[in-house]
Amino acid sequence: MDYSEIMVRYGELSTKGKNRKDFIRQLGQNVKAALQEFADLEIHAQHDRLHVALNGTPSGPVIDRLKGVFGIENFSPVLKVEKTKDAMFEAAKTLIEAQYEPGMTFKINTKRQDHQFELDTNQINDQLGGHILRSIPVITVKMKQPDITLRVEVRLNGIFLSSETIHGAGGLPVGTGGRAVMMLSGGIDSPVAAYMGMKRGVKLDMVHFFSPPYTSEQALAKAKELTTKIAGFAGHVQFIAVPFTKVQEDIKEKVPEGYLMTIQRRMMLRLTAAIAQQRGAKGIFTGESLGQVASQTLESMLAINDVTTMPVLRPLVSMDKTEIIKIAEKIDTYDLSILPFEDCCTIFTPPAPKTRPDLEKVRNFEKLIDVDALMAEALAGVTVVNIKPGDHYMNQQEEVFAELL
Ligand code: ATP
Ligand code: MG
Repeated sequence: MDYSEIMVRYGELSTKGKNRKDFIRQLGQNVKAALQEFADLEIHAQHDRLHVALNGTPSGPVIDRLKGVFGIENFSPVLKVEKTKDAMFEAAKTLIEAQYEPGMTFKINTKRQDHQFELDTNQINDQLGGHILRSIPVITVKMKQPDITLRVEVRLNGIFLSSETIHGAGGLPVGTGGRAVMMLSGGIDSPVAAYMGMKRGVKLDMVHFFSPPYTSEQALAKAKELTTKIAGFAGHVQFIAVPFTKVQEDIKEKVPEGYLMTIQRRMMLRLTAAIAQQRGAKGIFTGESLGQVASQTLESMLAINDVTTMPVLRPLVSMDKTEIIKIAEKIDTYDLSILPFEDCCTIFTPPAPKTRPDLEKVRNFEKLIDVDALMAEALAGVTVVNIKPGDHYMNQQEEVFAELL
C-alpha cells in the first residue's frame, strides 16, 4: 500500500513546559538521524504528534527504523486521499482489507476539522460503516475493543485514514537523560544494560578494555560489532578502546591471586571514571547483576566501587539470566555475544577469586602496583571510533570457522 505519511505518538510525555519542548526537539532529531538514509522524507515534530511525510518512500523500511527509536509510544501509517466521498470509501476499504481476517470486528472513529465537507462526523461513521459492511461480507461492528479501528480525519488539505497502531520502543528520547559511559564487554549482559540505559534517555558511549596478545583481534571486532547493534537505538555511538594488557600483567605479577580480580576491576572502573570525566559524562553503566559471578556480590561491589564517587548504574541488577537473554534476543545481540572469543577478564581470572573481598586488604594489596603510572599509560593508548548502525567489523561465519580450524 502506498501510505502517504506515518503519524508518531509520543511516549511518556507527562511533563510540561521546557522538559516537554526538550523531549520533542530531541525526538525530532533522533527520528531524523534514524531515517537519514531516506532522502525524500519530510519530518515535522509538532506539539502533540510527529509526522513523517513519505513522499513516495516505501513505508516498510521506515517503519522498521522507527520501531527502534526511544520516546515513541506508537505510530500509524496513514493514507491521504482527496476530499471526496468516493476516494474516502475506496481508501477505507483498502485499509481494512489489508488487515482483515474472517470474523473480525471493526469500528470507525471520525474527526472533522473541515466543516465544509459534504458529510458530518455522524454521517461519515454511518455511511462509511455501511459501505464497509456491504463490501466485506463477514465483518461486524463492535464499539468496545474491536479488532480494527479505522481512524478518519477530515482536514482542510485532505482526508487522512489509518487503521493500524504499531508499538514503539517506549522510553525517553536518547539525549534527554544526559551522558554517561557504558562498560561494554563482549558478553551477553552489557549490551542489554546499554539498551536499558538508552531507553531511559541516556546517551551512552562504549568503553571496552582489551588485552592483546591475550585477547584476539576478533574479540575487539566482536565488541565493535555489538556496538553497531546498540547504535541502532541512538543513531551513532562512540566506541572507546582501552589497552589493558600492561595493567593486567602488572597486577598478575604483584598481587596475591585471590585479589587479582577485585584489583583488576578497580583499575577498570578507575579508568572508566577518568574517561567519563574527560568527556563530561555523569555516570557509568555496567552489565552487572547481583549474585551472577564472583565479582557481583555486594561485598565485591563495595570493594570495587570504592575507587569512584561517580554513580555506577546497573540496570540488570535484579534480573535473571533468562530475562536478560530474552532482551538480548530481542535487540539482536545474543548471537554475537555467544561467539567464543575470550575477553580480557576471563583470561586473567584466577580459579578461585574472593567472592567476599575485604576492603582494607584490597586497598593495601593495591599499593603493590603503581596505580597512577598504569592509569596514565592506559589513558595515553585510548582510541575512539564512531560507530553507526549497519557498520561491520566482523564476518560472523568466517570468524567462527577460523576459530574452529
Ligand atoms: P557481560 O555479559 O556483560 O560480559 P558478565 O556476566 O560476563 O557480563 P563480568 O565479566 O563480571 O560479568 O562483567 C561485569 C561487567 O563488567 C560487564 O557487564 C561490563 O559492564 C564490565 N566489563 C567486563 N569486561 C569488560 C571489558 N572487557 N570491557 C569493558 N567492560 C567490561
Ligand atoms: Mg563477561
